[in-house]
Amino acid sequence: MYKRIHLFFFLLGLGGSVYSQDNSLVNTSNSTHAKLQPVNMNAVVWTSGFWGERMQVCKDSMVPNLWRTYTDANVSHAYKNFEIAAGKDTGSHSGPPFHDGDFYKLLEGVAKLYAVTKDKKLETMMDTAIATIAACQRPDGYIHTPVLIEERKQTNKERAFADRLNFETYNLGHLMTAGCVHYRVTGKKTLLNVAIKAADYLDAFYKRSSPELARNAICPSHYMGVVEMYRTTKDPKYLQLAINLINIRGLVENGTDDNQDRIPFRQQKVAMGHAVRANYLYAGVADVYAETGDDSLMDCLHSIWDDVVYRKMYVTGGCGALYDGVSPYGTSYKPPYIQKTHQAYGRAYQLPNMTAHNETCANIGNLLWNWRMLLLSGDAKYADVVELELYNAILSGISLDGNNFFYTNPLSASADFPYTLRWAGGRIPYISLSNCCPPNTVRTMTQVSDYAYTTSDKGVWVHMYGGNKLSTQLEKGGEVELSQQSNYPWDGAVKFTVNKAPASAFSLFLRIPGWCKKADLKVNGKPVTLKAKAAQYEELNRTWKAGDVIELNLSMPVTLIESNPLVEETRNQMAVKRGPIVYCLESTDLPKGTNVFDIAIPVKNDLKPVMTTISKSKIATLQGTGLLQPKTDWSKALYKEVRATETPIKITMVPYYAWGNRGKSDMTVWVRK
Ligand SMILES: [Zn+2]
Repeated sequence: MYKRIHLFFFLLGLGGSVYSQDNSLVNTSNSTHAKLQPVNMNAVVWTSGFWGERMQVCKDSMVPNLWRTYTDANVSHAYKNFEIAAGKDTGSHSGPPFHDGDFYKLLEGVAKLYAVTKDKKLETMMDTAIATIAACQRPDGYIHTPVLIEERKQTNKERAFADRLNFETYNLGHLMTAGCVHYRVTGKKTLLNVAIKAADYLDAFYKRSSPELARNAICPSHYMGVVEMYRTTKDPKYLQLAINLINIRGLVENGTDDNQDRIPFRQQKVAMGHAVRANYLYAGVADVYAETGDDSLMDCLHSIWDDVVYRKMYVTGGCGALYDGVSPYGTSYKPPYIQKTHQAYGRAYQLPNMTAHNETCANIGNLLWNWRMLLLSGDAKYADVVELELYNAILSGISLDGNNFFYTNPLSASADFPYTLRWAGGRIPYISLSNCCPPNTVRTMTQVSDYAYTTSDKGVWVHMYGGNKLSTQLEKGGEVELSQQSNYPWDGAVKFTVNKAPASAFSLFLRIPGWCKKADLKVNGKPVTLKAKAAQYEELNRTWKAGDVIELNLSMPVTLIESNPLVEETRNQMAVKRGPIVYCLESTDLPKGTNVFDIAIPVKNDLKPVMTTISKSKIATLQGTGLLQPKTDWSKALYKEVRATETPIKITMVPYYAWGNRGKSDMTVWVRK
């Protein structure tokens, strides 16, 4: 009903916001096929606990530090490229072709941080940068600094969309998302107007040369971007553009599995190729489904989701097992037509640990995709993946102090490994060839609060637990204010206090995580029998009033995880989880010279959580007794007789996301049984 009301006011020319959720990160408030609507970007504030601490690091360190990096031409040329393209400086383009997109991601992160802090300094940073970006845009809307700089110099060396590896559409997609976010947060149209001109350019370019544009859909952030432009401007041509962009994927000559364009999207039933490109594609397709309800798209997304989650995703949520490989799919596998893939999903159950690529951007792509699937369905299985990514495969990508980054996220590391992997250098402040991950990770950290709650026509849905405050409007009217107190994920006790509620009844949907076998619930001290099982939402419908208290207790024992036996690399090994957190063994916590791969953990073990601090961050380690194999010299040996004697050894496991914060180390997630 509210959708019709919104349309009514819009047609009256009142425009703007009737229903307040219009200022959310992903705005599904008018999406016919979305069940849930995200809350506004300033509706949730982390007040304490795990994400409260991360947000503090975000404010104090992540955002200002990365801004310094991107505006210091001696380190990163990203902003300098815009200044040169705008004629404010002279020189040449430097850095990867997707540098513009990296800067837009950072700008989006700054805008989101501004939404909750209203820090004037952030506003000034954005205003200055946006003025430069706007100044370099071509009158026809095209914007891509490598080409614009050459045009300014009249060298004729670069032209628009000449090379698919120029990442123009990727950059434009991030510009559109950043433009929408900046507008929703600040009410200013400065960046949105640049994005509108760019989207119009893309639309006109599509009409002139759609196969050429199809070929340029590398890492298609622009599917998400174009749909969000439709949601912001309500101009139907953008939705039509998004639909067309997906339809033309099959038109690419000599398309590849690596780029998910060898066959039309509607024929794709498994995850293939470059994992960032794949997950961005799936997220964009989910956005199109939200607006169109095209089942032929959703059928593919369901099938591909099963393939990822049941066959190709790491226990940490990592996506993209292979640095390099060949596609096992289609006729392309017949020699001599074998297609190379890189940074890619491998075969089903092909999940190596030490050489796992798992680019942080791919893991973020999986978050973006699963969040959209959750919005469409309200199915908690997608929220489980959202949570897994945020606490493990994404958080591992940034150091605890917020200043250093991983590009790849392997599940084990060893100084003895004889290959030098391209990106195995520990955490570093700037990844010169591929700095796509740091701004993606930082913007995601600023946005974690956007994944905590949604609303539906029935009420408020809680997806994430932690110390925070929610202040939002219900779709059927009325304001709701909740405060949440919890030491989650170190403790499963969560307490909600209702601070404000409308007079009429509404439902609170509490997520019971997929990993949780036992939960207790009390409302105002009285036990409530839970109807929901793991990976479902418990619906509490009543007339709430200020002062009501809801207490949820999620049982969170140490859990041992084994993999499907078809995963050769982890057969007969175990991973250790507690709640949503995956743990690892790090050589830093073992006596000098002890090999992490010589430790076994008994199935019946005494691992217990013990709070500690690493790099000023509070962390629950798991401490207990492992079994140590006798030290063995493996030089000039590939096979040896099994060693029979194991001796007890005190071990400490740290959360996977926290590894590599205390200097170089060996590490393993999977341990011997
Ligand atoms: Zn990346």
